[in-house]
Amino acid sequence: MLVEFNKRIEDKTADLVALTQDLVRIPTVNPPGDAYTPCAELIGTRLKSRGFQVEYIRGHDTPGDSDAFPRTNVIARREGRGPGKTVHFNSHIDVVEAGEGWTVDPYGGEIRDGKVYGRGTCDMKGGMAASIIAAEAYIEANPGFSGAIEISGTVDEESGGFGGVAYLASKGLFSKPRVDHVIIPEPLNKDRVCLGHRGVWWAQIETFGTQAHGSMPFLGDCAVRHMGSVINAFETDLYPQLANKQTDMPVVPEGAKKSTMNLNSIHGGESETGAGGKPDDYDGLPSPNVPDSCRLILDRRFLIEEDLATVKNEVVSILERLKSDRDEFDYAIKDIMEVLPTMTERDAPVVQAVSQGIRSVLGKEPEYVISPGTYDQKHIARIGHLHDCIAYGPGILDLAHMADEYVGIDDMVESAKVMCQAIHVLLTSND
Ligand SMILES: [Zn+2]
Repeated sequence: MLVEFNKRIEDKTADLVALTQDLVRIPTVNPPGDAYTPCAELIGTRLKSRGFQVEYIRGHDTPGDSDAFPRTNVIARREGRGPGKTVHFNSHIDVVEAGEGWTVDPYGGEIRDGKVYGRGTCDMKGGMAASIIAAEAYIEANPGFSGAIEISGTVDEESGGFGGVAYLASKGLFSKPRVDHVIIPEPLNKDRVCLGHRGVWWAQIETFGTQAHGSMPFLGDCAVRHMGSVINAFETDLYPQLANKQTDMPVVPEGAKKSTMNLNSIHGGESETGAGGKPDDYDGLPSPNVPDSCRLILDRRFLIEEDLATVKNEVVSILERLKSDRDEFDYAIKDIMEVLPTMTERDAPVVQAVSQGIRSVLGKEPEYVISPGTYDQKHIARIGHLHDCIAYGPGILDLAHMADEYVGIDDMVESAKVMCQAIHVLLTSND
C-alpha cells in the first residue's frame, strides 16, 4: 500500500506543480485580504469534483471583514465508506505583501531549477497543494477507506487568524467528534514535525508630556525623552534578563530558544509626511513642538516555562520604577494581543503518524521543533480544545515573507508522500 501511494504521488507531480502555480497566481494579499473568495473557490471546485462536500464560510464581523474584502474560508470533507477517525489538513490561503527586491513576478508561479517561485509558494500554498494531492492519492488508492478526510483553506493567519481558524473553531469545526487529528502544512521542512509555538504578548506603552514651543522645551515636558528612559531601562535591565532565559522546548532557530522582545514601532510628536492629515507629497519643514505623547508597541515572545503574568510584570515593574524615580514620568500600558505557548506531546497520534511517514519516505529520524512565531494551532488548541495537532509541510521557514520566495518541487512531492502515509496510519489505527 505504501509503495502504491508513493507511485501515485510521483505520477501527480505535474498536477501538484500546476495546483501550486494556480494558487500563487491568485494574490490573496493580507492585509487587506484580497481575492479570498476566488482562491477559496479554486480549492472548493477542485475538491467537489473529487467527491468532497464543500462549504464556504465567511468570517462575518471579524477584523477586516467587509463586502469588499469578505473573509471567505473553504472547508471540504470526504466521507469514507465506514465510520472512523477524521484527519484534517488546514492551510491558510492569505499571503503577506510582495514588497521589493523580486527578480521574478511574485504572482507568476515561475519555475526555475526545480522550484516554484512566488509570494506564498513556501508560506504556504505549496504545503496546501501537497496536502490536497496527498488526500486525492490516498482516496484513489484506497477508495474503501474508513473515516473521513477534511481539507480547509482559511483566511487571515498572517493577521491573527480571527476570521479564519478562530472563527471556524468557534463554530465547532475544529473539535471532536467532527475532527480527531489536524496537520497544518506550514513550511517547517519536510523532515521536521513542529509540535507548537512560543507565546506572544503585544502591548502599547504610552508616555505623556506637556506641549510647548521647541525653542523653550523647559516650559513643557518631552514625552519622547520619557520613552527614551523606558527603552534605556529595557536595554540595561530587561534585555539581559531575557537573554538568560533558555527554554527546554526545541525551538528553531537557535536564537529563539531564549525569550525575545522586539520594539515594533515608536511614534512621538508631530506626525510624519503622509500621516496626520499631511499629504503624501508634503515636503515642507516640520514645526518646533515639545511632544506630549509617545507610543511604543512591543512584541514579546515567551517560553513555555514562563507565565504571562510574570512576563507582563517584568515590563510594568520597570515602568513603575521610572514613575517613582523620574520627574514627571507618567505612562499608560494596554494589551494588544496575548497568545499562550502551545506544545503537542511527542506521543500524540498525529506526531507518531507523521514521524512514521518521515522515516519511511526519507529514511531518517524526524526532528521535533517548536516554531518561534505562532500560527493557527493556537486557535485549534484553545478554542477547539483539540490537541492532536502539529505543523508539517515542505519549504524552508526562513524564506517565508522574503523576496524570491520559493518551494522545491521535490520537497513538495516528498512531503505529500509523508502526508499520505500519515493519513493511512491515522485512519487504520485502532485506538
Ligand atoms: Zn504561514
